[in-house]
Amino acid sequence: MDKKSENIKIAIYPGSFDPITLGHLDVLSDGAKMFDRVIIAVLKNSSKKGFLTVEERVQLIKECVKDLPNVEVDSFDGLTVEYAKKKNATILLRGLRAVSDFEYEMQLSQTNRALSEDIKTVFLMTKPEYNFISSSTVKEILMHNGDISKFVSPEVNDYLINKVKNVNN
Ligand code: ADP
Repeated sequence: MDKKSENIKIAIYPGSFDPITLGHLDVLSDGAKMFDRVIIAVLKNSSKKGFLTVEERVQLIKECVKDLPNVEVDSFDGLTVEYAKKKNATILLRGLRAVSDFEYEMQLSQTNRALSEDIKTVFLMTKPEYNFISSSTVKEILMHNGDISKFVSPEVNDYLINKVKNVNN
């Protein structure tokens, strides 16, 4: 890496984003102000069974971040630290909600640090009103035909409503 690119702070924001919520987007927009580039990357080999395909998640994220010029959208499989190295990123961005996230996130960040000393995890907290939102509760509400518009962006809201309609017909 030359001197100039060493000074550019690139962060990876990895996750399942199944689907992306307003909580994720809040963390992302704060991250975009702190780092030169943020790559939001959908993990392909997550053990969680997906509701949306990786392609659908990437597409929805692209629509949500179109006004954030230093944010890129991608997907990856394998180890997050290896993906980060490939992208010349030195930061992993993660969101923290309640204390319940902490233990899992701490374990994950320490594992990643043990795998690569040069890559540090930065945690950001959302605005209190987004603190309780999770992709799983969004899916749960959607399955029961509830209103998810307070939890996701309008693009995601419309897409998910249509998807459920098509599945049920
Ligand atoms: P993962 O399957 O890796 O946990 P998620 O898509 O569920 O992926 O979440 C990605 C990151 O965003 C995680 O760090 C998670 O803690 C964080 N996150 C999820 N929802 C919120 C929220 N409402 N506020 C802040 N951070 C959040």
